[in-house]
Amino acid sequence: EMSVEKHVFEADVARLLHLMVHSVYSDKNVFLRELISNAADACEKLRYEAIVSPELLAGDTNPSIKLTLDEENNRLIVEDNGIGMSRDELVEALGTIARSGTRAFMERIEAAQGKEGAQLIGQFGVGFYSAFMVADNVDVVSRRAGSDHAWHWSSDGKGSYTVAAADRADAPARGTRITLHLMEDAKTYTSRWTVERIVKDQSGHVPVPISIVEKPGAEPVSVGDGTALWTKQKSEISKEDYADFYRGVSGQYDDPALTVHFRAEGRHEYTALAFVPGSKPFDLFDQDRKGRMKLYVKRVFITDEAELLPRYLRFVRGLVDTSDLPLNVSREMIQESPLLSSIRKGLTNRVLTAIEKLAESDREAFDKIWENFGSVLKEGIYEDFERRAQLISLSRFRTTTSEDGHRSLADYVKDMKDGQSAIYYLTGDNLAQLKASPQLEGFRARGIEVLLLTDPVDSFWVTSAPDFEGKPMKSITQGSADLGSVAKPEGSADSAPEASQAVADFVAFAKETLGDAVSEVRTSDRLTESAVCLVAPENGPDRQLEKMLQGAGR
Ligand code: ADP
Ligand code: MG
Repeated sequence: EMSVEKHVFEADVARLLHLMVHSVYSDKNVFLRELISNAADACEKLRYEAIVSPELLAGDTNPSIKLTLDEENNRLIVEDNGIGMSRDELVEALGTIARSGTRAFMERIEAAQGKEGAQLIGQFGVGFYSAFMVADNVDVVSRRAGSDHAWHWSSDGKGSYTVAAADRADAPARGTRITLHLMEDAKTYTSRWTVERIVKDQSGHVPVPISIVEKPGAEPVSVGDGTALWTKQKSEISKEDYADFYRGVSGQYDDPALTVHFRAEGRHEYTALAFVPGSKPFDLFDQDRKGRMKLYVKRVFITDEAELLPRYLRFVRGLVDTSDLPLNVSREMIQESPLLSSIRKGLTNRVLTAIEKLAESDREAFDKIWENFGSVLKEGIYEDFERRAQLISLSRFRTTTSEDGHRSLADYVKDMKDGQSAIYYLTGDNLAQLKASPQLEGFRARGIEVLLLTDPVDSFWVTSAPDFEGKPMKSITQGSADLGSVAKPEGSADSAPEASQAVADFVAFAKETLGDAVSEVRTSDRLTESAVCLVAPENGPDRQLEKMLQGAGR
């Protein structure tokens, strides 16, 4: 008698399942894309492992994904001949959530309402558990490549699952078979027409052939040939093809905001297909700041951890395929190969140039990219010395004269006042707070534009970006903002504070009273209405950076 073990789901899985079933997410079709994408990943992993262990293929060398429709029993079966899962892998993969950032993300979804929640869950990419949006029971039978044993995982998605050794006769020779026992209102997923349409829409460019078996025992009919889109000529690829491929490779549900597809020739040869997403990927602000670009060698998936782009471009999705590395390249070898640094450099240039071109040709599309990813791109200003000038030019800002967030430093410099010698900025947590700052008074009175910086990253890059077109960046909360050289408009009151003995007396009094709590008390041009304000010393961190460093416990 075979023993059946019962396990409870990890708390986060239970929570995700609850979210999925009680459904913020209305587009249930996506479950199929998730299962197909897992099946394709499994085939690619096998192909990779088989490079060093060809015996794993055991005569079955063609990767395939098969969808069997069983209308009579109201079931849909998704089967692949990929790497498969061992018992421990089954428990690990289908009982826990490995992805970092998941918990924070679920909190956001729970806090959001209706449509917004649906959008969020869409960005997240719902994964295997989405099967429970359409099935009230799911059976997974899997045999890891090279293993004699197969395992059977089963759950109704309500808090627990079972694992048992699978009947040999009943298990696939290699890979994974997922059987969905469809809910009453999900019967449509046994219709060939429905399933075929969904596969073509969502998974038309999966790099593994997909076929449909109309009823158990019937001949498979091919629905996708598994050709790699990136190897085709650009002229043969439609916008829709790119968008579909992008959704598959990125796990996003939107359209790409920008597509970069090129072939590098010469000393190093590779093809790159990269996308800037149309919305923020859910893991954008994960601690690890990892990118997700995939590396292929001669169309074989190798790894998505090769760091093909710098961290400040981690939102870019896609892949690089090269024939200049051996297939059995180890992950350590990749990091050290000169090819990798050449790819990094070439790809970074192409992506940044494409974004720059977009800024000229399609302002609206560029602004959208900036809104989503500007705060990430700005990390490059202090991390990538070589491209600092380029990234500063690309940056857009909210300012005291324009709150839409689309002013470049070139715009700023063009509109500088006579006698103004610096680019002024004010950093803080939010726009309303910044706009109310007394520090701005003297600048307003003189019509001097001030950048209003509210991203946490701003406090860091401004201190590493000494100038733009020869103009230094200067915090208005720091040291002496030298406004004396810029004339105030005619007719405005002349405060000339130095002139008054009363003011001098007050300064002396303040110095004495405050003692060591301040390093200096002085009159200033920067105020017109308020009597006093705090400023930071000339050469230290500005007020906002000081606050952030204190907050970080330093
Ligand atoms: P993700 O694909 O982002 O890792 P999923 O929830 O879709 O998240 O899948 C979880 C894990 O389950 C996968 O990482 C993989 O290890 C495993 N898995 C799912 N489906 C299969 C499959 N068909 N073959 C092998 N492993 C699978
Ligand atoms: Mg998946």
